[in-house]
Amino acid sequence: MTHVLIVEDEERIVSFVHRGLTAAGYLVSSTSSGHEALEILRSGDIDLVLLDIGLPDISGLEVLARLRADGSTVPVIALTARDSARDLVAGLDGGADDYIPKPFTFDELLARIRARIRDRERAVPTRLEHDGLVLDLLERKATIGDRDIELSAREFALIEELLRHAGQVLSREQLLSRVWGYDFDPGSNVVDVYVRYLRTKLGPERIETVRGAGYRLV
Ligand code: CA
Repeated sequence: MTHVLIVEDEERIVSFVHRGLTAAGYLVSSTSSGHEALEILRSGDIDLVLLDIGLPDISGLEVLARLRADGSTVPVIALTARDSARDLVAGLDGGADDYIPKPFTFDELLARIRARIRDRERAVPTRLEHDGLVLDLLERKATIGDRDIELSAREFALIEELLRHAGQVLSREQLLSRVWGYDFDPGSNVVDVYVRYLRTKLGPERIETVRGAGYRLV
């Protein structure tokens, strides 16, 4: 579910955007504080931010600057006063992906949000799916249907590599190099051991052993 954070101190705007986005199927959080917004954003599970420029504590531009300085690439749509062209230019220079002048209609806002989410999905694949197995690459979570599968970081990396090349045979050497970073065979059967772990957790039929060649996701 796409999680939108509204950072805005005008309650009227917050409540109308909150209601509309919830009805449109988004998960919505809100705060009127720039400091709190940064706290929430550090938790990492926000997909898009609607950011008012004029906040009571630190300005939206300051929030944006700190966010980008932290390395976050979360899409940000700045909410600016219509007559304040200076805010707008500063907002875009400061790393906003888009801006929308107030007052705006809900449809206008929703169209901008959808466009920014689409851009993002095109830019980085955040999900891999194969035969009911879904990997969320941002949250590093695996699910089959509505069942969460607990995977260690290495198990996740291994199944991710197999999913990215579903149907292709990957040799033990390729897997050792791409998943473990080894450019030599340490002479252990670490790949086989991890494939066994994955079979136990994901079901025995997903990963096929191709004799003398390696493994393949089927
Ligand atoms: Ca404001």
